[in-house]
Amino acid sequence: MITTSLPLPLQSPGASHSLTVHRFGRPGARPQVYIQAALHADEIPGMLCAVHLRERLAAIETEGALRGEIVLVPVANPFGLGQTVLGHAIGRFALGDGSNFNRDFPDLEPGTAERVRDRLGRDPAQNVALVRAAMAEELAAWPAETPVAVLKKTLVGLALGADLVLDLHCDAEGAMHLYTLPTSAGVFAPLGAWLGSKATLVAEVSGGDPFDEVFSRPWVSLATRFPDVPLPLAAHAVTVELRGQADVDHALAKADAAAIIAFLSHAGALAGTPPTLPGQEGTIARLDQSETLTAPHAGIVVFRCAAGDMIRAGDPVVDIVDPLTGAISTVLATSSGVLFARNSTRFATPGKRLGKIAGDGSRRSGKLLGL
Ligand SMILES: [Zn+2]
Repeated sequence: MITTSLPLPLQSPGASHSLTVHRFGRPGARPQVYIQAALHADEIPGMLCAVHLRERLAAIETEGALRGEIVLVPVANPFGLGQTVLGHAIGRFALGDGSNFNRDFPDLEPGTAERVRDRLGRDPAQNVALVRAAMAEELAAWPAETPVAVLKKTLVGLALGADLVLDLHCDAEGAMHLYTLPTSAGVFAPLGAWLGSKATLVAEVSGGDPFDEVFSRPWVSLATRFPDVPLPLAAHAVTVELRGQADVDHALAKADAAAIIAFLSHAGALAGTPPTLPGQEGTIARLDQSETLTAPHAGIVVFRCAAGDMIRAGDPVVDIVDPLTGAISTVLATSSGVLFARNSTRFATPGKRLGKIAGDGSRRSGKLLGL
């Protein structure tokens, strides 16, 4: 294991931050896998999982059983990790401007297409190398003027060129679930099975430019743009939602790390045969058909269903109780699927998002991710 520390821009004189990067295996070995935790800095389950991953990968490397190269960033957002307001950690949004740390990453595809337009040939491997180089040039040209933008650019630079990218997050309260592109769902199905994922939410474009889509989306778009040249999908990325924010537990983190190690073995990054796949796999659901339950008015939030429950259209999911009159409004599901996430606050304002169902409702368009 080689550990490096990348300095980040000073946010104020004397206040320095850095990004710690652990590298395992021979540089340049394939498959190359990039794993980061806690880009939303108040999502701690991935951080503990990364601690267990680091131990396991170091031991595997010592045994000489590493075939690929693994890059692990256990704390992807040192800026966010330092943000607290009156004792509460604020790690999802930058306090400086309110921006979400996992939104507005660059779309490298249009510029990459221009760079490779007249240079793609008949050799798929050469085309992949050409596109990877062009994407790196596009990233280098991406302006990053604020410390947070530099952080984003640095993280993308670390993961760019990887065959597989795993971004470890969690929901407020949640069952294990994944987000990825439809074309990558099959690649990550074994990961989901080992993790015990209840649902994989897929979208061609989620609308928020999250971290994972930087790497996978350009390959799909380029293959569509240049249908006459052989251009394989050379990068697949997934956002792994490790249940809820309070699900920080040694046993869970150890099991999640073991599941990721099994997937790395399955992907050919480790020597030996991977463990047997569990029989059960979570459902694959379209993100644009997922249902967000909202509060019809202010009141006390009392859930009737747990995260991970299978819901049918018409089922009562959550009560909103008026604290002055005792009147209850029950929010019913309008679609069927897994209740994969719940809000963790127990008092709602009108319109507040209460929970999410990997449903089968009518398709939405626009920005499909929450704030
Ligand atoms: Zn997150």
